Amino acid sequence: MADIRLDYENEFPIQIEAPDISAYKSGNIGVDYIYTFDSGKEGPHIFISAVVHGNEPCGAIALDWLFKKDVRPVKGKLSLGFMNVEAYLAYDPNNPNRTRWIDEDFNRLWGPGILDDFSRLKTSEFERARIVRPIINDADFLLDIHSMQKPCVPLMMAGMKAKGLTFAKLVGMNIATISDSGHKEGMRMRDFSDFSDPNSKKNALLVECGQHWEKSSETIAIETAIRFIKSAGIMNDEFGMEYLSNSKNDDQISFYKVGEIITIKTEKFKFSKDWQGFDNLDKGTIIAYDDEEPIYAPFEKTILIMPTKRLLVGKTAVRLAYQIKQNGL
Ligand SMILES: [Zn+2]
Repeated sequence: MADIRLDYENEFPIQIEAPDISAYKSGNIGVDYIYTFDSGKEGPHIFISAVVHGNEPCGAIALDWLFKKDVRPVKGKLSLGFMNVEAYLAYDPNNPNRTRWIDEDFNRLWGPGILDDFSRLKTSEFERARIVRPIINDADFLLDIHSMQKPCVPLMMAGMKAKGLTFAKLVGMNIATISDSGHKEGMRMRDFSDFSDPNSKKNALLVECGQHWEKSSETIAIETAIRFIKSAGIMNDEFGMEYLSNSKNDDQISFYKVGEIITIKTEKFKFSKDWQGFDNLDKGTIIAYDDEEPIYAPFEKTILIMPTKRLLVGKTAVRLAYQIKQNGL
């Protein structure tokens, strides 16, 4: 059963096809839809995850691309995993919003203790997250591939610590990079455990590749996956160069920090305009009303990060950011 709150009409064209992933079901480490390729040599364990949200096919396209290239590390380990498979398998291009999750958001279950809390509902996402957790726990570096509800420039979500920004620079995608603390509703996989510990060498990135079904989202997903793998030094130097030679990347990354998260308090929440994401507002501009309460742009130049179309109480409506220098947290 899908969540009926997700059953709203899609207004965007479907330009990409969700690949058939049935060939990857068996996995190779005893967990469905997860593969680990171990070089047998010293080196980091890197993990690329797709379809944490079932209606975001660009990550599945990137993993399918890597599988078809028979990518194998020469050092360390490479894991490739499809996360919310049940939701992804239910994906229907005629009603694509509906399959974001089955029971709840897979990407809000990663805070301390949540996955060990047996008093909570045993949802499809809870069960799957518990199964994949040991592999995520073992990974040194995680890339989690996502896409967005509205057409927007791609964004790299680097988490709340300076090490995330440093890592984004190392990976080198020439896209806006955001320092952020996620959602009040619950912790994301990219913020899980050591990924958020400033003293740990583990690190994670979440890339938002563009609108869910926009053609360019698949190009961004594949390119980010290649650059992420290359940054870990686990492949030969020539890996992916053929693909990257078509991309323009001048290493000019702009950095932003989320300073405020707007969480929906009432059923009467309404944006003042149909914001698209990455809108740049002057201080004092009214962004939305939550019932009667106006929400103003708080920063000199306030950047809207992913305004949602799902206006549900308790969920994030939008995040508000401002530009920073790298590590100017
Ligand atoms: Zn997502």
